Amino acid sequence: MNKPFKRFKFSSITTRLVFTYFLIMLLTLLLFSYYILATTKNYLYEDEKQSVTTMSNVVASFAVDYIDPETQKLDREKFAKFINEIRIDSQMRVLILNKDITVLYDSQNNRNMLGTAQVRPAILAAVNGLAGFREYQTEDDGVIFDAAAPVLTLDGEVIGVVDIVYVPESVTRIHSSILGEMAFLILVISLLVGIIIFVVANLVSKRIVDFTSKITSMSDDGILDEKLDISGNDEISRLGEAFNIMSEKVVNLEKQRVQFVSDASHELKTPLSSIKLMADSILQNPDISMEYVREFLEDMNNEVDRLNRIVNKLLYITKMDMYTEEANKKLELISLNDIVGGIEKNLQPLAKKDDITLVFTTPSEIFLMANKDVLWQGIYNIVDNAIKYTDADGYVLVTTEQKNGKVIITVRDTGVGISSEEIDKIFDRFYRVDKARARSTGGTGLGLAIALGAIKYHDGEIDVKSERGKGSVFTIILPDVVPNSQADSDEPNAEEM
Ligand code: ADP
Repeated sequence: MNKPFKRFKFSSITTRLVFTYFLIMLLTLLLFSYYILATTKNYLYEDEKQSVTTMSNVVASFAVDYIDPETQKLDREKFAKFINEIRIDSQMRVLILNKDITVLYDSQNNRNMLGTAQVRPAILAAVNGLAGFREYQTEDDGVIFDAAAPVLTLDGEVIGVVDIVYVPESVTRIHSSILGEMAFLILVISLLVGIIIFVVANLVSKRIVDFTSKITSMSDDGILDEKLDISGNDEISRLGEAFNIMSEKVVNLEKQRVQFVSDASHELKTPLSSIKLMADSILQNPDISMEYVREFLEDMNNEVDRLNRIVNKLLYITKMDMYTEEANKKLELISLNDIVGGIEKNLQPLAKKDDITLVFTTPSEIFLMANKDVLWQGIYNIVDNAIKYTDADGYVLVTTEQKNGKVIITVRDTGVGISSEEIDKIFDRFYRVDKARARSTGGTGLGLAIALGAIKYHDGEIDVKSERGKGSVFTIILPDVVPNSQADSDEPNAEEM
Protein backbone atom coordinates (compact mmCIF):
# COMPACT_ATOMS: atom_id res chain seq x y z
CA MET A 1 0.00 0.00 0.00
CA ASN A 2 1.18 3.52 -0.74
CA LYS A 3 2.12 5.45 2.35
CA PRO A 4 0.57 8.90 1.82
CA PHE A 5 3.09 10.67 4.07
CA LYS A 6 5.97 9.18 2.16
CA ARG A 7 5.49 11.96 -0.38
CA PHE A 8 6.00 14.70 2.22
CA LYS A 9 9.65 15.27 1.52
CA PHE A 10 10.60 18.94 1.57
CA SER A 11 12.44 18.45 -1.71
CA SER A 12 9.25 17.28 -3.46
CA ILE A 13 7.55 19.66 -5.86
CA THR A 14 4.19 19.27 -4.10
CA THR A 15 5.51 20.16 -0.66
CA ARG A 16 7.52 23.07 -2.02
CA LEU A 17 4.57 24.40 -3.98
CA VAL A 18 2.17 24.06 -1.06
CA PHE A 19 4.59 25.78 1.32
CA THR A 20 5.46 28.53 -1.13
CA TYR A 21 1.86 29.27 -2.05
CA PHE A 22 0.80 29.05 1.58
CA LEU A 23 3.46 31.59 2.57
CA ILE A 24 2.65 33.89 -0.38
CA MET A 25 -1.06 33.69 0.45
CA LEU A 26 -0.47 34.31 4.14
CA LEU A 27 1.84 37.28 3.51
CA THR A 28 -0.54 38.80 0.96
CA LEU A 29 -3.52 38.41 3.26
CA LEU A 30 -1.62 39.81 6.24
CA LEU A 31 -0.45 42.86 4.27
CA PHE A 32 -3.90 43.36 2.84
CA SER A 33 -5.52 43.08 6.29
CA TYR A 34 -2.98 45.43 7.81
CA TYR A 35 -3.78 47.99 5.13
CA ILE A 36 -7.55 47.59 5.59
CA LEU A 37 -7.29 47.79 9.37
CA ALA A 38 -5.05 50.86 9.26
CA THR A 39 -7.35 52.72 6.87
CA THR A 40 -10.58 51.76 8.71
CA LYS A 41 -9.00 52.76 12.03
CA ASN A 42 -8.08 56.20 10.63
CA TYR A 43 -11.47 56.57 9.05
CA LEU A 44 -13.27 55.62 12.29
CA TYR A 45 -11.08 57.97 14.34
CA GLU A 46 -11.73 60.82 11.91
CA ASP A 47 -15.43 60.13 12.19
CA GLU A 48 -15.32 60.17 15.96
CA LYS A 49 -13.20 63.34 15.99
CA GLN A 50 -15.75 64.99 13.79
CA SER A 51 -18.67 63.97 15.96
CA VAL A 52 -17.02 65.05 19.23
CA THR A 53 -16.13 68.45 17.71
CA THR A 54 -19.64 68.88 16.33
CA MET A 55 -21.12 67.85 19.67
CA SER A 56 -19.01 70.43 21.53
CA ASN A 57 -20.21 73.13 19.11
CA VAL A 58 -23.86 72.04 19.40
CA VAL A 59 -23.74 71.93 23.21
CA ALA A 60 -21.97 75.33 23.28
CA SER A 61 -24.66 76.90 21.10
CA PHE A 62 -27.34 75.67 23.53
CA ALA A 63 -25.32 76.34 26.70
CA VAL A 64 -25.59 80.08 26.13
CA ASP A 65 -29.22 79.84 27.32
CA TYR A 66 -28.15 78.36 30.66
CA ILE A 67 -25.36 80.79 31.58
CA ASP A 68 -26.12 84.19 32.97
CA PRO A 69 -23.97 86.60 30.97
CA GLU A 70 -23.72 89.00 33.92
CA THR A 71 -22.87 86.67 36.75
CA GLN A 72 -21.57 83.89 34.54
CA LYS A 73 -23.51 81.46 36.70
CA LEU A 74 -24.87 78.26 35.20
CA ASP A 75 -28.33 76.94 35.80
CA ARG A 76 -26.90 73.54 36.48
CA GLU A 77 -30.14 71.65 36.95
CA LYS A 78 -31.72 72.87 33.73
CA PHE A 79 -28.50 72.23 31.86
CA ALA A 80 -28.28 68.70 33.27
CA LYS A 81 -31.83 68.13 32.12
CA PHE A 82 -30.94 69.43 28.69
CA ILE A 83 -27.92 67.13 28.49
CA ASN A 84 -30.13 64.28 29.54
CA GLU A 85 -32.69 65.12 26.89
CA ILE A 86 -30.26 65.25 24.01
CA ARG A 87 -29.09 61.76 25.03
CA ILE A 88 -25.48 62.51 24.61
CA ASP A 89 -23.19 59.49 24.34
CA SER A 90 -22.39 58.38 27.90
CA GLN A 91 -18.75 57.98 26.86
CA MET A 92 -18.55 61.74 26.34
CA ARG A 93 -17.75 63.70 29.49
CA VAL A 94 -19.24 67.17 29.11
CA LEU A 95 -17.78 70.05 31.13
CA ILE A 96 -18.96 73.64 31.23
CA LEU A 97 -16.40 76.18 32.30
CA ASN A 98 -16.71 79.89 32.84
CA LYS A 99 -14.40 82.21 30.98
CA ASP A 100 -11.92 81.92 33.88
CA ILE A 101 -11.71 78.25 32.93
CA THR A 102 -13.25 77.08 36.20
CA VAL A 103 -15.48 74.03 35.94
CA LEU A 104 -19.15 74.83 36.46
CA TYR A 105 -20.62 71.52 35.36
CA ASP A 106 -19.39 67.95 34.92
CA SER A 107 -21.68 65.40 33.30
CA GLN A 108 -20.04 62.66 35.34
CA ASN A 109 -20.85 64.52 38.57
CA ASN A 110 -17.30 64.34 39.79
CA ARG A 111 -17.32 66.79 42.65
CA ASN A 112 -13.53 67.02 42.71
CA MET A 113 -13.58 68.51 39.28
CA LEU A 114 -16.20 71.20 40.05
CA GLY A 115 -14.66 74.56 40.88
CA THR A 116 -11.23 73.58 39.62
CA ALA A 117 -9.45 75.43 36.85
CA GLN A 118 -8.72 73.28 33.78
CA VAL A 119 -5.67 74.54 31.96
CA ARG A 120 -5.77 72.53 28.76
CA PRO A 121 -4.81 73.76 25.28
CA ALA A 122 -8.25 72.99 23.80
CA ILE A 123 -9.99 74.95 26.61
CA LEU A 124 -7.55 77.86 26.32
CA ALA A 125 -8.25 78.07 22.58
CA ALA A 126 -12.01 78.09 23.24
CA VAL A 127 -11.66 80.87 25.85
CA ASN A 128 -10.09 82.90 23.06
CA GLY A 129 -13.14 82.33 20.87
CA LEU A 130 -11.70 79.50 18.79
CA ALA A 131 -12.66 75.87 18.50
CA GLY A 132 -10.05 73.80 20.31
CA PHE A 133 -9.13 70.19 19.78
CA ARG A 134 -6.43 67.96 21.21
CA GLU A 135 -5.76 64.27 20.95
CA TYR A 136 -3.89 62.40 23.71
CA GLN A 137 -2.32 58.99 23.61
CA THR A 138 -3.00 56.76 26.60
CA GLU A 139 -0.52 54.29 28.02
CA ASP A 140 -2.50 51.31 26.75
CA ASP A 141 -2.24 52.59 23.17
CA GLY A 142 -5.72 54.13 23.17
CA VAL A 143 -6.61 57.78 22.49
CA ILE A 144 -8.48 60.53 24.29
CA PHE A 145 -10.10 63.34 22.33
CA ASP A 146 -10.56 66.73 23.98
CA ALA A 147 -12.85 69.09 22.02
CA ALA A 148 -13.69 72.54 23.38
CA ALA A 149 -16.01 75.22 21.94
CA PRO A 150 -16.60 78.79 23.17
CA VAL A 151 -20.05 79.67 24.53
CA LEU A 152 -20.79 82.94 22.74
CA THR A 153 -23.45 85.57 23.31
CA LEU A 154 -25.24 87.08 20.33
CA ASP A 155 -22.65 89.87 20.43
CA GLY A 156 -19.92 87.32 20.05
CA GLU A 157 -18.68 87.66 23.63
CA VAL A 158 -17.17 84.54 25.22
CA ILE A 159 -19.06 83.78 28.42
CA GLY A 160 -17.90 80.23 28.92
CA VAL A 161 -16.52 77.08 27.40
CA VAL A 162 -17.99 73.66 26.62
CA ASP A 163 -15.37 70.95 26.84
CA ILE A 164 -16.04 67.37 25.87
CA VAL A 165 -13.56 64.65 26.78
CA TYR A 166 -14.12 61.44 24.89
CA VAL A 167 -12.43 58.05 24.82
CA PRO A 168 -13.47 56.49 21.49
CA GLU A 169 -13.61 52.93 22.79
CA SER A 170 -15.97 51.89 20.02
CA VAL A 171 -13.09 52.29 17.54
CA THR A 172 -10.91 49.89 19.48
CA ARG A 173 -13.89 47.55 19.86
CA ILE A 174 -14.78 47.60 16.15
CA HIS A 175 -11.13 47.32 15.33
CA SER A 176 -10.50 44.24 17.42
CA SER A 177 -13.67 42.57 16.15
CA ILE A 178 -12.54 43.21 12.52
CA LEU A 179 -9.11 41.86 13.51
CA GLY A 180 -10.68 38.67 14.88
CA GLU A 181 -12.81 38.11 11.77
CA MET A 182 -9.88 38.83 9.50
CA ALA A 183 -7.64 36.38 11.34
CA PHE A 184 -10.32 33.73 10.99
CA LEU A 185 -10.77 34.53 7.29
CA ILE A 186 -7.02 34.50 6.67
CA LEU A 187 -6.76 31.10 8.31
CA VAL A 188 -9.68 29.65 6.35
CA ILE A 189 -8.55 31.12 2.98
CA SER A 190 -4.93 30.03 3.51
CA LEU A 191 -6.03 26.53 4.44
CA LEU A 192 -8.39 26.32 1.46
CA VAL A 193 -5.71 27.60 -0.93
CA GLY A 194 -3.22 25.19 0.66
CA ILE A 195 -5.57 22.26 0.11
CA ILE A 196 -6.33 23.26 -3.51
CA ILE A 197 -2.62 23.73 -4.29
CA PHE A 198 -1.86 20.41 -2.62
CA VAL A 199 -4.44 18.59 -4.75
CA VAL A 200 -3.34 20.29 -8.01
CA ALA A 201 0.39 19.93 -7.32
CA ASN A 202 -0.13 16.33 -6.31
CA LEU A 203 -1.88 15.61 -9.61
CA VAL A 204 1.02 17.19 -11.53
CA SER A 205 3.72 15.55 -9.46
CA LYS A 206 1.97 12.16 -9.59
CA ARG A 207 2.35 12.20 -13.38
CA ILE A 208 6.02 13.14 -13.10
CA VAL A 209 6.52 10.41 -10.47
CA ASP A 210 4.79 7.91 -12.80
CA PHE A 211 7.01 8.98 -15.71
CA THR A 212 10.12 8.77 -13.56
CA SER A 213 9.32 5.30 -12.21
CA LYS A 214 8.61 4.03 -15.73
CA ILE A 215 11.81 5.59 -17.12
CA THR A 216 13.80 4.19 -14.17
CA SER A 217 12.39 0.71 -14.70
CA MET A 218 13.17 1.03 -18.43
CA SER A 219 16.78 2.01 -17.76
CA ASP A 220 17.20 -0.52 -14.91
CA ASP A 221 15.74 -3.46 -16.83
CA GLY A 222 17.13 -2.36 -20.20
CA ILE A 223 13.67 -2.41 -21.82
CA LEU A 224 14.20 0.37 -24.31
CA ASP A 225 11.06 0.05 -26.41
CA GLU A 226 8.61 0.75 -23.58
CA LYS A 227 6.41 3.80 -24.08
CA LEU A 228 5.02 6.34 -21.64
CA ASP A 229 1.21 6.64 -21.53
CA ILE A 230 0.34 10.14 -22.62
CA SER A 231 -2.95 11.85 -21.93
CA GLY A 232 -3.71 15.54 -22.42
CA ASN A 233 -1.72 18.18 -24.20
CA ASP A 234 0.12 20.05 -21.48
CA GLU A 235 3.85 20.54 -20.85
CA ILE A 236 4.18 17.19 -19.04
CA SER A 237 2.44 15.37 -21.90
CA ARG A 238 4.83 17.04 -24.34
CA LEU A 239 7.76 15.99 -22.15
CA GLY A 240 6.42 12.43 -22.35
CA GLU A 241 6.01 12.66 -26.12
CA ALA A 242 9.58 13.96 -26.48
CA PHE A 243 10.76 11.07 -24.32
CA ASN A 244 8.84 8.55 -26.44
CA ILE A 245 10.37 9.98 -29.65
CA MET A 246 13.81 9.88 -28.07
CA SER A 247 13.33 6.29 -26.87
CA GLU A 248 12.19 5.31 -30.38
CA LYS A 249 15.40 6.80 -31.76
CA VAL A 250 17.47 4.99 -29.13
CA VAL A 251 15.72 1.73 -30.03
CA ASN A 252 16.45 2.30 -33.73
CA LEU A 253 20.06 3.17 -33.01
CA GLU A 254 20.38 0.04 -30.89
CA LYS A 255 18.86 -2.06 -33.69
CA GLN A 256 21.27 -0.48 -36.20
CA ARG A 257 24.18 -1.14 -33.85
CA VAL A 258 23.27 -4.81 -33.39
CA GLN A 259 22.70 -5.17 -37.15
CA PHE A 260 26.01 -3.47 -37.89
CA VAL A 261 27.98 -5.70 -35.50
CA SER A 262 26.31 -8.81 -36.92
CA ASP A 263 26.85 -7.68 -40.55
CA ALA A 264 30.45 -6.69 -39.88
CA SER A 265 31.19 -10.02 -38.15
CA HIS A 266 29.60 -11.87 -41.04
CA GLU A 267 31.57 -9.90 -43.64
CA LEU A 268 34.82 -10.50 -41.78
CA LYS A 269 34.00 -14.16 -41.22
CA THR A 270 33.62 -15.00 -44.93
CA PRO A 271 37.20 -14.15 -46.01
CA LEU A 272 38.55 -15.58 -42.75
CA SER A 273 36.76 -18.91 -43.39
CA SER A 274 38.20 -19.05 -46.94
CA ILE A 275 41.70 -18.37 -45.66
CA LYS A 276 41.30 -21.03 -42.94
CA LEU A 277 39.97 -23.54 -45.49
CA MET A 278 42.83 -22.95 -47.89
CA ALA A 279 45.46 -23.04 -45.14
CA ASP A 280 43.97 -26.33 -43.84
CA SER A 281 44.04 -27.80 -47.37
CA ILE A 282 47.74 -27.01 -47.70
CA LEU A 283 48.58 -28.31 -44.23
CA GLN A 284 46.56 -31.53 -44.56
CA ASN A 285 48.02 -32.40 -47.96
CA PRO A 286 51.73 -33.06 -47.53
CA ASP A 287 52.01 -34.08 -51.18
CA ILE A 288 50.39 -30.91 -52.55
CA SER A 289 52.24 -29.51 -55.54
CA MET A 290 53.99 -26.15 -55.40
CA GLU A 291 51.71 -24.95 -58.17
CA TYR A 292 48.59 -25.51 -56.01
CA VAL A 293 50.25 -23.98 -52.95
CA ARG A 294 50.99 -20.88 -55.00
CA GLU A 295 47.44 -20.72 -56.29
CA PHE A 296 46.04 -21.06 -52.75
CA LEU A 297 48.45 -18.43 -51.46
CA GLU A 298 47.34 -16.01 -54.16
CA ASP A 299 43.69 -16.57 -53.20
CA MET A 300 44.57 -16.17 -49.55
CA ASN A 301 46.39 -12.96 -50.38
CA ASN A 302 43.28 -11.65 -52.17
CA GLU A 303 41.13 -12.50 -49.18
CA VAL A 304 43.57 -10.70 -46.87
CA ASP A 305 43.38 -7.66 -49.18
CA ARG A 306 39.61 -7.85 -48.95
CA LEU A 307 39.76 -8.09 -45.16
CA ASN A 308 42.07 -5.11 -45.17
CA ARG A 309 39.67 -3.10 -47.33
CA ILE A 310 36.72 -3.91 -45.06
CA VAL A 311 38.62 -3.08 -41.87
CA ASN A 312 39.95 0.18 -43.33
CA LYS A 313 36.49 1.23 -44.44
CA LEU A 314 34.99 0.30 -41.06
CA LEU A 315 37.66 2.35 -39.33
CA TYR A 316 36.92 5.23 -41.68
CA ILE A 317 33.17 5.04 -40.93
CA THR A 318 33.81 4.99 -37.17
CA LYS A 319 36.16 7.97 -37.46
CA MET A 320 33.64 9.90 -39.56
CA ASP A 321 30.83 9.16 -37.07
CA MET A 322 32.98 10.71 -34.39
CA TYR A 323 33.76 13.84 -36.36
CA THR A 324 30.29 14.53 -37.75
CA GLU A 325 29.38 16.65 -34.73
CA GLU A 326 29.36 20.33 -35.71
CA ALA A 327 31.97 21.29 -33.09
CA ASN A 328 34.42 18.60 -34.29
CA LYS A 329 34.22 19.42 -37.99
CA LYS A 330 37.33 20.74 -39.67
CA LEU A 331 36.31 22.85 -42.65
CA GLU A 332 38.40 25.10 -44.86
CA LEU A 333 37.97 27.00 -48.10
CA ILE A 334 38.76 24.54 -50.88
CA SER A 335 38.53 24.35 -54.67
CA LEU A 336 36.03 21.75 -55.85
CA ASN A 337 37.81 21.68 -59.22
CA ASP A 338 41.01 20.53 -57.48
CA ILE A 339 39.18 17.65 -55.80
CA VAL A 340 37.30 16.60 -58.93
CA GLY A 341 40.51 16.93 -61.03
CA GLY A 342 42.36 14.68 -58.57
CA ILE A 343 39.60 12.05 -58.69
CA GLU A 344 39.66 12.11 -62.51
CA LYS A 345 43.41 11.52 -62.52
CA ASN A 346 43.01 8.67 -60.07
CA LEU A 347 40.15 6.87 -61.80
CA GLN A 348 40.94 7.43 -65.49
CA PRO A 349 43.26 4.34 -65.59
CA LEU A 350 40.53 2.15 -64.07
CA ALA A 351 37.98 3.41 -66.63
CA LYS A 352 40.45 2.83 -69.47
CA LYS A 353 41.13 -0.71 -68.23
CA ASP A 354 37.39 -1.46 -68.42
CA ASP A 355 36.94 0.36 -71.77
CA ILE A 356 34.73 3.00 -70.21
CA THR A 357 34.72 6.61 -71.33
CA LEU A 358 35.09 8.82 -68.26
CA VAL A 359 34.32 12.51 -68.95
CA PHE A 360 34.53 15.37 -66.44
CA THR A 361 32.83 18.72 -67.18
CA THR A 362 33.72 21.49 -64.71
CA PRO A 363 32.77 24.77 -66.42
CA SER A 364 33.68 27.25 -63.66
CA GLU A 365 35.88 27.44 -60.59
CA ILE A 366 33.83 26.53 -57.53
CA PHE A 367 35.02 27.22 -54.01
CA LEU A 368 33.34 25.92 -50.90
CA MET A 369 33.88 25.36 -47.20
CA ALA A 370 34.63 21.67 -46.85
CA ASN A 371 36.90 19.04 -45.41
CA LYS A 372 39.09 18.11 -48.39
CA ASP A 373 39.70 14.45 -47.46
CA VAL A 374 36.11 13.71 -46.46
CA LEU A 375 34.59 15.36 -49.55
CA TRP A 376 37.13 13.60 -51.78
CA GLN A 377 36.09 10.24 -50.32
CA GLY A 378 32.39 11.03 -50.82
CA ILE A 379 32.69 11.98 -54.52
CA TYR A 380 35.35 9.35 -55.26
CA ASN A 381 33.19 6.44 -54.02
CA ILE A 382 30.27 7.47 -56.24
CA VAL A 383 32.43 7.91 -59.39
CA ASP A 384 34.25 4.67 -58.56
CA ASN A 385 30.88 2.85 -58.32
CA ALA A 386 29.73 4.35 -61.61
CA ILE A 387 32.81 2.79 -63.28
CA LYS A 388 32.50 -0.51 -61.37
CA TYR A 389 28.83 -0.98 -62.29
CA THR A 390 29.17 0.00 -65.96
CA ASP A 391 30.07 -2.54 -68.61
CA ALA A 392 32.69 -2.09 -71.31
CA ASP A 393 32.05 0.65 -73.92
CA GLY A 394 29.85 2.47 -71.43
CA TYR A 395 30.05 6.12 -70.34
CA VAL A 396 30.51 7.86 -67.03
CA LEU A 397 29.92 11.62 -67.05
CA VAL A 398 30.74 13.88 -64.09
CA THR A 399 29.60 17.53 -64.07
CA THR A 400 29.83 20.29 -61.48
CA GLU A 401 27.69 23.42 -61.35
CA GLN A 402 26.33 26.10 -59.06
CA LYS A 403 22.58 26.62 -59.02
CA ASN A 404 20.15 28.34 -56.64
CA GLY A 405 22.66 28.65 -53.83
CA LYS A 406 23.73 25.02 -54.15
CA VAL A 407 26.79 23.26 -55.46
CA ILE A 408 25.70 20.29 -57.57
CA ILE A 409 27.89 17.38 -58.61
CA THR A 410 26.21 14.95 -60.99
CA VAL A 411 27.58 11.47 -61.77
CA ARG A 412 25.80 9.77 -64.71
CA ASP A 413 26.55 6.31 -65.98
CA THR A 414 25.19 3.98 -68.63
CA GLY A 415 25.70 0.98 -66.34
CA VAL A 416 23.60 -1.83 -64.90
CA GLY A 417 21.27 0.49 -63.01
CA ILE A 418 19.37 -0.20 -59.79
CA SER A 419 15.75 -1.31 -59.45
CA SER A 420 13.36 0.99 -57.57
CA GLU A 421 12.94 -1.57 -54.74
CA GLU A 422 16.67 -1.50 -54.11
CA ILE A 423 17.41 2.19 -54.43
CA ASP A 424 16.48 2.87 -50.76
CA LYS A 425 18.78 0.12 -49.51
CA ILE A 426 21.99 0.85 -51.39
CA PHE A 427 23.17 3.34 -48.73
CA ASP A 428 22.84 0.74 -45.94
CA ARG A 429 26.11 -0.60 -44.62
CA PHE A 430 27.15 -3.87 -46.33
CA TYR A 431 24.22 -3.82 -48.75
CA ARG A 432 25.06 -5.01 -52.28
CA VAL A 433 22.57 -5.56 -55.06
CA ASP A 434 24.61 -8.19 -56.83
CA LYS A 435 26.93 -9.89 -54.33
CA ALA A 436 28.84 -11.82 -57.00
CA ARG A 437 29.56 -8.72 -59.07
CA ALA A 438 30.46 -6.70 -55.99
CA ARG A 439 32.86 -9.44 -54.94
CA SER A 440 34.54 -9.56 -58.33
CA THR A 441 34.92 -5.77 -58.31
CA GLY A 442 36.23 -5.80 -54.73
CA GLY A 443 33.02 -4.22 -53.37
CA THR A 444 32.42 -4.26 -49.63
CA GLY A 445 28.96 -2.70 -49.48
CA LEU A 446 30.42 0.17 -47.48
CA GLY A 447 31.27 2.62 -50.30
CA LEU A 448 27.89 4.38 -50.47
CA ALA A 449 27.48 4.39 -46.67
CA ILE A 450 30.80 6.25 -46.50
CA ALA A 451 29.78 8.56 -49.38
CA LEU A 452 26.48 9.43 -47.69
CA GLY A 453 28.28 10.05 -44.38
CA ALA A 454 30.79 12.29 -46.15
CA ILE A 455 28.09 14.35 -47.88
CA LYS A 456 25.99 14.61 -44.70
CA TYR A 457 29.17 15.79 -42.96
CA HIS A 458 28.92 18.80 -45.30
CA ASP A 459 25.16 19.22 -44.63
CA GLY A 460 24.46 17.99 -48.14
CA GLU A 461 22.34 15.22 -49.64
CA ILE A 462 22.52 12.57 -52.37
CA ASP A 463 19.72 11.98 -54.82
CA VAL A 464 19.63 8.80 -56.92
CA LYS A 465 17.68 8.16 -60.12
CA SER A 466 18.17 4.81 -61.75
CA GLU A 467 16.53 2.14 -63.83
CA ARG A 468 17.63 -1.46 -64.11
CA GLY A 469 19.71 -1.91 -67.27
CA LYS A 470 19.56 1.78 -68.21
CA GLY A 471 22.15 3.40 -65.99
CA SER A 472 22.08 5.67 -62.96
CA VAL A 473 22.33 9.34 -62.02
CA PHE A 474 23.77 10.16 -58.60
CA THR A 475 23.35 13.86 -57.69
CA ILE A 476 25.32 15.31 -54.80
CA ILE A 477 23.82 18.56 -53.53
CA LEU A 478 25.94 20.68 -51.21
CA PRO A 479 25.03 24.01 -49.59
CA ASP A 480 26.95 26.84 -51.27
CA VAL A 481 28.09 28.48 -48.05
CA VAL A 482 30.80 30.62 -49.65
CA PRO A 483 29.57 33.31 -52.04
CA ASN A 484 31.72 32.39 -54.99
CA SER A 485 31.90 35.90 -56.41
CA GLN A 486 33.51 36.94 -53.13
CA ALA A 487 35.79 33.91 -53.16
CA ASP A 488 36.76 34.88 -56.71
CA SER A 489 37.52 38.44 -55.74
CA ASP A 490 39.56 37.25 -52.77
CA GLU A 491 41.79 35.34 -55.15
CA PRO A 492 44.63 37.37 -56.66
CA ASN A 493 43.57 38.45 -60.11
CA ALA A 494 46.34 37.79 -62.63
CA GLU A 495 45.14 40.49 -65.03
CA GLU A 496 45.29 43.15 -62.38
CA MET A 497 48.85 42.25 -61.43
P1 ADP B 1 30.11 -1.72 -53.05
O1 ADP B 1 31.38 -1.70 -52.33
O2 ADP B 1 29.53 -3.08 -53.15
O3 ADP B 1 30.18 -1.02 -54.35
P2 ADP B 1 28.48 0.41 -52.25
O4 ADP B 1 27.99 0.78 -50.89
O5 ADP B 1 29.38 1.38 -52.90
O6 ADP B 1 29.11 -0.99 -52.11
O7 ADP B 1 27.21 0.19 -53.15
C1 ADP B 1 26.19 -0.62 -52.72
C2 ADP B 1 25.51 -1.31 -53.86
O8 ADP B 1 24.80 -0.35 -54.64
C3 ADP B 1 26.48 -1.93 -54.81
O9 ADP B 1 26.81 -3.23 -54.41
C4 ADP B 1 25.73 -1.90 -56.11
O10 ADP B 1 24.92 -3.06 -56.21
C5 ADP B 1 24.83 -0.71 -55.99
N1 ADP B 1 25.39 0.43 -56.78
C6 ADP B 1 26.11 1.45 -56.31
N2 ADP B 1 26.41 2.34 -57.28
C7 ADP B 1 25.85 1.86 -58.40
C8 ADP B 1 25.81 2.30 -59.77
N3 ADP B 1 26.38 3.44 -60.18
N4 ADP B 1 25.13 1.54 -60.65
C9 ADP B 1 24.54 0.39 -60.26
N5 ADP B 1 24.53 -0.08 -59.00
C10 ADP B 1 25.19 0.63 -58.08
